[in-house]
Amino acid sequence: MASTPKMHQSNRNLLDIDRDHLIHSVTSFRAHEARGATMLQSGKGMWLTDMDGREVLDAFAGLWCVNVGYGQDSIVEAAAEQMRRLPYATGYFHFGCEPAARLAERLVALSPEGLEHVYFTLGGSDAVDSAIRYITHYYNAIGKPAKKQCIALERGYHGSSSTGAGLTALANFHRNFDLPLRWQHHISSPYPYRSDLEGDDAAIIARSVQQLKDRVAELGADNVAAFFCEPIQGSGGVIVPPVGWLKAMRQACDELDILLVADEVITAFGRTGPMFACEAEGVTPDLMTVAKGLTSGYVPMGAVLMSDKVYQGIADGAAADVVIGHGATYSGHPVSAAVGLEVLRLYTEGGILANGQKVAARFDAGLAGLADHPLVGDTRGRGLLGAIELVADKGTKARFDPALKVADRLFNDGYANGVIFRAFADNIIGLAPALCATDAEMDEIFARIRKTLDGLLEQADIRATLG
Ligand code: PLP
Repeated sequence: MASTPKMHQSNRNLLDIDRDHLIHSVTSFRAHEARGATMLQSGKGMWLTDMDGREVLDAFAGLWCVNVGYGQDSIVEAAAEQMRRLPYATGYFHFGCEPAARLAERLVALSPEGLEHVYFTLGGSDAVDSAIRYITHYYNAIGKPAKKQCIALERGYHGSSSTGAGLTALANFHRNFDLPLRWQHHISSPYPYRSDLEGDDAAIIARSVQQLKDRVAELGADNVAAFFCEPIQGSGGVIVPPVGWLKAMRQACDELDILLVADEVITAFGRTGPMFACEAEGVTPDLMTVAKGLTSGYVPMGAVLMSDKVYQGIADGAAADVVIGHGATYSGHPVSAAVGLEVLRLYTEGGILANGQKVAARFDAGLAGLADHPLVGDTRGRGLLGAIELVADKGTKARFDPALKVADRLFNDGYANGVIFRAFADNIIGLAPALCATDAEMDEIFARIRKTLDGLLEQADIRATLG
């Protein structure tokens, strides 16, 4: 083949190519230009190998999504077989295909009683965005067009679509994006460690309920459409509310006549123990968004699960021959759906869900074992979703000075010690290992984290700030 300038370019160092042309998600462009990418090359089970051949333990399942672990051959085969047979079928108009219909049926069977309809998306952000669109349509269809205001939690994360990013309540997602939108509101998150009510679970729950009621009263009950929440907040720093919180919020939504949307993009598919986090509290939301663990990150896919009440409201509100104008070329993509079916099989018949529930005891023990570390203010978790919150002063819970860049140092030192976790800006280590981990791998994760914390503790500027 003739050599072209483009081919010449592709022989450049991969890090330079990446730096010059690839925009990375949720990254400072300038910081990325300076730092460059950490290039990953292959994965097996809990382990990743980077471009330099270094093996690291992934304690974050990619981005809390590779729940079944890397290198599951049966998933590769399911995708290849579907690609050979039928790589694409539209879900538009009245076309369909077997994997999408079967996956919808399977999801309905596994999810909390009462969720009966499924719309497939490409991921979590468009699942949330679709939920918002369907809710808007629903209230117009049932003759309550004023009900448009939505309430979510501070520190909540609902993706980065132009509607969902305003329900997200993280400063970087609003700054310079002109968000939140005027119909988006937030109440404080049930964050026991940072609450003046710490230790009194009932009072923390009661305060959330009261805040929701107060905000609805302020906005006018006839104007409020829905309350959106993650059963456990992920990107806000793995904030675990007291047991019973979700159930109380469900009851409050019923009393207030507003819809409950459970954003289970992280918490579904065994991440917190049961198949769905809502299950643990016997809660059926009106809509539930999922993604990540649905295909375990092998291919993109998300979904909105919808109660029959919402579905029938939308269906009855439109004349039989008027289309409901929401859709996407790749909704219900056959290859993603085939992967989803195989991933669900691995969770259930493949025993991965049960393994996750078993190894969660070791995960808990690992978290508890770090509680007395001089840098650790709080450890928390449910199932295989957890956090270690570092503080400069255990007594006052004071955070480290941002100038110390503790999160960056934590991530880099962890990586050097052979473990990947999420290091949140306010010095919270987020953990979400795959459900296929062994007890020995779990112990190794915590040994590497301890080594990382000990290393940080030895650094003079960190020691100097400790209370
Ligand atoms: N909702 C929640 C709770 C999430 O954690 C995420 C992603 O982390 C999203 C929505 C957005 O999903 P995606 O990144 O697949 O668009």
